[in-house]
Amino acid sequence: MEDCLFCKISKGEIPSTKVYEDDNFYAFKDINPVTPVHVLVIPKKHISSIAALTEADADVAGKMLFAVQKVAAILGLDQDGYRVVFNTGEKAGQTVLHMHAHILGGKEMAWPGI
Ligand code: C5P
Repeated sequence: MEDCLFCKISKGEIPSTKVYEDDNFYAFKDINPVTPVHVLVIPKKHISSIAALTEADADVAGKMLFAVQKVAAILGLDQDGYRVVFNTGEKAGQTVLHMHAHILGGKEMAWPGI
């Protein structure tokens, strides 16, 4: 999608600190981290949110969890644990309309809240 910030980041048109990339996904450090480790995993395909997923996205949606698993391991979070957040829609605080998983870690977290 032409005007999408995260599409541009995944194509390298806007700079980011890359953590992982494969054919379908791109992961980068959040510019405004809320935990000591805070990385976003995005599909390269433009999908605005979980709410916009269709059956045609079943493959990418399934693989996204494996991408999250892989990135968490790269970040060294797989032993101690981490939180995965998909803000979906306005009331949940989604500000970028390109589906993304927040991987949060590096500290003890309360529930709910960080
Ligand atoms: O879930 P939500 O849409 O609020 O998350 C968007 C995230 O994208 C924010 O945590 C924000 O800090 C991050 N961001 C970024 N790089 C940008 C713009 C936003 O990491 N250039």
